[in-house]
Amino acid sequence: MVQVYESTRNSKITATASEAVLKGIADDGGLYVLRNLEEKKVQINELQGKSYKEIAEIILKIMLNDFPQDKIKACVKNAYRDKFSKEEITPVVKVGDSYVLELFHGPTSAFKDVALSILPHLMTTAYQMNNMEGEVIILTATSGDTGKAALEGFKDVEGTKILVFYPEGGVSQVQKTQMVTQEGNNTFVCAIKGNFDDAQTGVKEIFSNEKLNKELKAKNRVLSSANSINVGRLVPQIVYYFYSYMKLVEKAAINIGDKVNFAVPTGNFGNILAGYYAKVLGLPVNKLICASNENNVLYDFINTGVYNRNREFHKTISPSMDILVSSNLERLLYYLSGKNNSMVRDFMESLKSTGRYTITDEMLKELKEDFYGGFVEKEYAEKTIKETFEKYGYLLDTHTAVAYKTMEDYRKETGDGTANIVLSTASPYKFSKSVYESLYGSANEDEFELMENLSQKTKVKVPANLNNLKNKEVKHSQVCNVNKMEEYVIFASKTQKNK
Ligand SMILES: *Cc1c(COP(=O)(O)O)cnc(C)c1O
Repeated sequence: MVQVYESTRNSKITATASEAVLKGIADDGGLYVLRNLEEKKVQINELQGKSYKEIAEIILKIMLNDFPQDKIKACVKNAYRDKFSKEEITPVVKVGDSYVLELFHGPTSAFKDVALSILPHLMTTAYQMNNMEGEVIILTATSGDTGKAALEGFKDVEGTKILVFYPEGGVSQVQKTQMVTQEGNNTFVCAIKGNFDDAQTGVKEIFSNEKLNKELKAKNRVLSSANSINVGRLVPQIVYYFYSYMKLVEKAAINIGDKVNFAVPTGNFGNILAGYYAKVLGLPVNKLICASNENNVLYDFINTGVYNRNREFHKTISPSMDILVSSNLERLLYYLSGKNNSMVRDFMESLKSTGRYTITDEMLKELKEDFYGGFVEKEYAEKTIKETFEKYGYLLDTHTAVAYKTMEDYRKETGDGTANIVLSTASPYKFSKSVYESLYGSANEDEFELMENLSQKTKVKVPANLNNLKNKEVKHSQVCNVNKMEEYVIFASKTQKNK
């Protein structure tokens, strides 16, 4: 039987897995979810001795079941063949008495590479499966890392265009340079005057703009999303939860069946939601530790049941987590509410009109069973980077430091001795200035100089993709107002760049 995804907001709006991957978001603005998720199980015993790619094939087949097995195998192979600098794709290293799951060995040095390396392959496969012709236009709002990872993933992929909107002034110098120097004949990058939430809202509005979608369709063009609202982003992220668990079993740090905690630096709630899915699929997980920076909406939500975005937006040293509206939380609400679509719709309408909503006591109780919420301010994130380097010789990036510290706080507060896996989402060199300053105090040099200085002092190698970045030619310098994003999409849809 072909399983069907449905919109979180309306069970009558359905799609096969391949359709969901192509569309990204449902027509009513809801996110695609599987109603029967808890009926699916991964047998962890059968994962013993398997490689990352083999585990990926198993998880992808379960979650995307209208994709033929041989196509999934091909997608996995093409995605991870030579894009990652480590054979294991996502190595696990011991730091103190915790484990760090390194998700940053892909082409842009951030965890988003793991999913965005495979999404284009899933999308072009889904395209063929649905007998479609023409062009897929990928729209992406980014807080810094998704943009580059999506550009690299979709660069020169036949039948696609990739458009990225990033907040002007809201990303690091390295992140910006990575995006504006992007090569490829199907790549478009535009800065917007606003923050990430403005960019994300703008993109969502374009998706639900019927007139524009009709006009594009008449020309054989469809819009899709590379943001983590796409199930094709979410599903590949489930893989490394299982993979890292099996690594701990292999290292004899746990016995198979023992529970573990995962600490996740969280923004849009995509990464940690994949952990929740892993748990539902049968991975023995005790707590999912949701770590925030000063933008601590999720911390408040997990502790009170009130989601309230009406608050000051902080620019922090972990910019990829500077988010007040965590889109993927909508999927968790769907499951916490007992798959009550109209309830989810009401929450989302309330969020849109008033900026807040409150979940029921029952939902809150369940939420707290699976999740622990914490947040870490700048001073403590910096201190964590310094101490972890001094004690263990391990260099954390600013996002991972937030998760590492939240995990320590959790352990102190609860006395829970369960084995811990901290998800490391970026190379420290993506945020060289902040990492350098955490270790050696404030510095005036620009990020590229500090990258070199940091490497000389710490003896930790700079990833190759960041090493030669600064001499690359700038190819994208557009800036637009939020209300001009639609125009930019139309412009890009008509533009054919020369090869
Ligand atoms: C995107 C990102 C995050 C946040 O992940 P979400 O899935 O949006 O919660 C954390 N750290 C880094 C480095 C990122 O790029």
